[in-house]
Amino acid sequence: MTHLELATDDGHTLRQSTVETSPLAIRGLTVSYGEKPAVFSVDATFRDGSMTAIIGPNGAGKSTLLKAALGVIRPLSGTVTVYGKPLAGQRQRIAYVPQRASVDWDFPTRVVDVVLMGLYRQLGLLGRAGATHRAKALACLERVGMADFANRQIGQLSGGQQQRVFLARALAQDADLYLLDEPFAGVDAATEKAIIDVLKTLKAEGKTVVAVHHDLATVAEYFDRVFLINVRKVAEGPVGEAFNAENLQKAYGGRLAMAQIENLQLTAG
Ligand code: ADP
Ligand code: MG
Repeated sequence: MTHLELATDDGHTLRQSTVETSPLAIRGLTVSYGEKPAVFSVDATFRDGSMTAIIGPNGAGKSTLLKAALGVIRPLSGTVTVYGKPLAGQRQRIAYVPQRASVDWDFPTRVVDVVLMGLYRQLGLLGRAGATHRAKALACLERVGMADFANRQIGQLSGGQQQRVFLARALAQDADLYLLDEPFAGVDAATEKAIIDVLKTLKAEGKTVVAVHHDLATVAEYFDRVFLINVRKVAEGPVGEAFNAENLQKAYGGRLAMAQIENLQLTAG
């Protein structure tokens, strides 16, 4: 597949962003649960080493887009390539932190075992976690400030603490591309800080981060790129360009008052 496009939205550098070089390139993606598509004919090219916020109103198809990118939902049409190759052989390069509300811990599981789940590809289906794996799981918990909770039951932790554990599980995978679904939703300030610090470190290491993000007030501070969606793609590009009043109005329509948009003190319009 050769889908070459010049990155005209990049401003200063005229870097090319192609299906071949992108950690995650989506073409013509349509996903439907019923008659009405949840995601319609979406193209997206996420940039290597960038941090992109996926933005849009409730029900815009943000979670669906991530799930289709992971291959856990089968699209009606479209292709997903990961570092230039079909998704099927590349899943181990992607780590995913699901929307917290979608995880339900009915049976008792220790925190360290949740993180070890991130290592299952290295362990193999019948593999048993050895001392090296446990040490690695603990190191990942350390990175999110949760090492002291390793032996606690996950169900007993606060929402923010659980979210940090899920991030530790993603870290254990040693992935190159991190997909997170509303990682900051309903977490405490300390957790938000811990998570953003980890994400910025990942970016500094050259990893690529794509996160569904609900808080428009922190987009400019946390991310360098945005992808706006409302079933269809609205816009994608650097925060300084694509995160503007016109695109927000297009994505949110009447659901976002002009006053709110003005409060964001957007750079470009
Ligand atoms: P967002 O994450 O932007 O809030 P979603 O991707 O979760 O949006 O949902 C997009 C649309 O698809 C919504 O209208 C939602 O109700 C619908 N939807 C999501 N998941 C399912 C599902 N498993 N079955 C049926 N409809 C779904
Ligand atoms: Mg969602």
